[in-house]
Amino acid sequence: MPKFLATICLAVWMPLTAQAGRATRADLTFPGYRAGEVMPKEAALHWVGWLRDRDFDVAGFVRDQATVELILRDDDSLDALVHAGFRVIERELPTADQPSLRGSLSDYANPTEVRDFLLATVAEHPTLAAMTVIGTTHEGRDIYALEISNNPGVPEDEPAILLNGLHHAREVVTPHVVMDAITYLTDRYSAGDPQVMNWVDHFKVFCVPMVNPDGSNYVHTAEPNHRKNMAPVCTGGNLGVDLNRNYPYHWGAGVANCERGTGSSGNTCSDTYRGGSAASELETQAMIGLAQQERFLVAVSYHSAGRFIDYPYACNDGNPDNRMPEHAIIDEIMHGTADGIAAVGGVTYDVYSPIAIGPVNGDDTSWYYAHNGTYPLIIEIGTSFQPPFATGMAEVARNRGGWLYLLGRMGGARLDVRVADHLTGEPLSAQVRLLNFTFDTGELPRMSDPLFGRSRWLVTANVTYTAEVSAPGYQSRTLAAPVADEPVDLLVLLLPNGAVLGDFEPDGDIDMRDYYRFHACFGETTAACRVFDFTADEDVTLADYAFLEDALLGPE
Ligand SMILES: [Zn+2]
Repeated sequence: MPKFLATICLAVWMPLTAQAGRATRADLTFPGYRAGEVMPKEAALHWVGWLRDRDFDVAGFVRDQATVELILRDDDSLDALVHAGFRVIERELPTADQPSLRGSLSDYANPTEVRDFLLATVAEHPTLAAMTVIGTTHEGRDIYALEISNNPGVPEDEPAILLNGLHHAREVVTPHVVMDAITYLTDRYSAGDPQVMNWVDHFKVFCVPMVNPDGSNYVHTAEPNHRKNMAPVCTGGNLGVDLNRNYPYHWGAGVANCERGTGSSGNTCSDTYRGGSAASELETQAMIGLAQQERFLVAVSYHSAGRFIDYPYACNDGNPDNRMPEHAIIDEIMHGTADGIAAVGGVTYDVYSPIAIGPVNGDDTSWYYAHNGTYPLIIEIGTSFQPPFATGMAEVARNRGGWLYLLGRMGGARLDVRVADHLTGEPLSAQVRLLNFTFDTGELPRMSDPLFGRSRWLVTANVTYTAEVSAPGYQSRTLAAPVADEPVDLLVLLLPNGAVLGDFEPDGDIDMRDYYRFHACFGETTAACRVFDFTADEDVTLADYAFLEDALLGPE
């Protein structure tokens, strides 16, 4: 049972006026920290990393006051803080039997209420929404995903976005952001809102309001400050695994690969316990399975609190060489999201790169990007875990501006590579590389999906991208694609090894027998005729004839 919430002030550089609580040594310095050269924000970030490295449960930080909120579970951790030179202001944590908190918590959705909400949505909008069970938890609760689409439940060659909430049990406002998106999109589609209809007709929107229903149940019935799932580790103590330290990319990387610190804990009772192995948890497996099936273009993970937006890589040191290879585009969409949120109610969300709550490893966002090519964001909403319900709903309304921006941006500068077999036209799972970027931070190869042969990229507008496409058994191709401010569909046809364009008769040579066949192939789509498709546009036309002549006669 946590003892109390502590607010620590970064007294090292704070003015020593108006201090409350315990006095501390104000002249203490820490490795890598020099008091005279940092601004408050950077200092706060520095301390968050320092505290996490020492296994403190960081609840959030308040930028303007340069304070960090911690949940302390025993006197030893308090003593350690004081000894380290922090000024500590204690606040009693609410307990489950306090009527005021119970009143507030009960307004927020528990697992049953989330399920009932999703069922009601599907009942009301059966042609727009489909509900699936993506996994079942240790305690037997289903984890639900709701797909919003004009053809829900049907695979389509469309970009998909994921909105998820409540990896962490106590962050009770986060499911409501996702449920707000569900209500907004389904109701407005039904009402004929042209912008929403355009999105829902051309995108797929996947919503997982509650990744961690077991933890949520525990928060609502017993322990409001519980963070992890309910895996039976540290039983009798702070049980469970931190789901957002359990994803496979750099799982448990430690200091060697996570240069700002350890990034997660191997102690089962820690609030950031990473689990016994990568993706050991049923909830993590459910999210991974969904991501691998849907290949999201954008994924947003809602957390609280702090009012900021983070993105991977969560365990890098901020050195530009160690950032995501596609830093420019993720930076653009993070600031766009922050602007969208600010436009609703004038509340500013900061944007951090590298991740502000770091160092972190085994987080979902780094995995989404490195293993799936998904553009991921963590949005830390609000200023506390369990604010009064009206306060929480005001934050939900602000965040609407964020995901609305993202839906709009998905229709902006985008490169959609489609790979197919040149001769059969069948979609191909091929490796697609954009040579504009260097992927050298453990990213898996970006493969086009086998169903549609599609590989999608959000890109910076008004740049020419060079795509190199390769697959075993095929001749690689490299194509240039200029992208303005709307999606570009780039068809890449790969010829099987040994195949020669124009060689209809296949004898390894282009001769008059091939030439005589050409005229019969106009408008034909057989593999034999597609061998005349020199221009690689899936059509045999006079434009191809010129190439055939050149091939037959040789260069003049
Ligand atoms: Zn969280």
